[in-house]
Amino acid sequence: MRLDNRTAVVTGGASGIGAATCRVLAERGADVVVADLDEEQGAELVDEIDRERDGGASFVETDVSDEDAVAGMVDHAEAEFGRLDVLVNNAAVASREADGPVTHLADDAYAFLTGVNLQGPMYACKHAIPAMQDTGDGHGVVVNNASIAALVAEPGMDIYTATKGALVSLTRSIAIEYAPAIRANAVCPGVVETPMLEAAMDSAAGPEDDGDVPDTLDRMIEETPLGMADPADVAHTVAFLASSDAKAITGATIPVDGGYTAR
Ligand code: NAD
Repeated sequence: MRLDNRTAVVTGGASGIGAATCRVLAERGADVVVADLDEEQGAELVDEIDRERDGGASFVETDVSDEDAVAGMVDHAEAEFGRLDVLVNNAAVASREADGPVTHLADDAYAFLTGVNLQGPMYACKHAIPAMQDTGDGHGVVVNNASIAALVAEPGMDIYTATKGALVSLTRSIAIEYAPAIRANAVCPGVVETPMLEAAMDSAAGPEDDGDVPDTLDRMIEETPLGMADPADVAHTVAFLASSDAKAITGATIPVDGGYTAR
């Protein structure tokens, strides 16, 4: 399952599942573009990959909700490594404070969450797919990082869940529209220990906040037959989908949730 001579862009690549994905792709020989808002963590990861892995790495500061920045991200990948083969749409935001049940939605929260979680992947596909088609070898891969929130209810986060459901639908459309040159699949992580999860736990700490959040997460972990996943568990699935071992897989939605949605 090597990825030599491949270039991958990972949005939100500086932290959590994105950073684990960058590490695993680079371990398997891919050159990796770490695209993120967080320059400090992104630069640290690039240094680590350059020291320890087979593939090279480069950071590009990117806000995925800004189309010009996303176009620049794709240009950066081509300028640094000469080609683009794999797009991992991983960047997303979740906020129990900004989000909520549909009767409590605020327009700015809607714009913020959909801007990053849905427009972001759309912009990235819009600019990356032509670049992947340009490589001339007939192979490009999109992996969209959705969530089990696309598959089962996650009450209290209605915008987040809607963006993730839409991302799964977008994945299927792309799979059909751009086959056979481009494969597109979605992964749906369950509960994974990352800064995003820690922020969700912390958000329940203040007096104004939803004190049910840790209870909800504890329940989800308890109801996960294999227990909480590690970012690398998701990264290995993404790397498999990016590789030619998955050459017959497109349009699929793959839970990486320790069995949570199997009930
Ligand atoms: P994380 O918060 O650790 O990392 C997210 C990264 O995205 C950060 O580096 C952040 O700087 C970056 N980012 C945020 N907004 C951005 C923007 N506008 N442009 C570019 N980069 C931006 O989160 P994580 O838990 O690793 O989540 C990664 C993905 O996995 C997300 O799509 C998330 O929805 C999904 N997911 C996570 C879990 C979980 O339990 N952690 C579960 C299901 C799905």
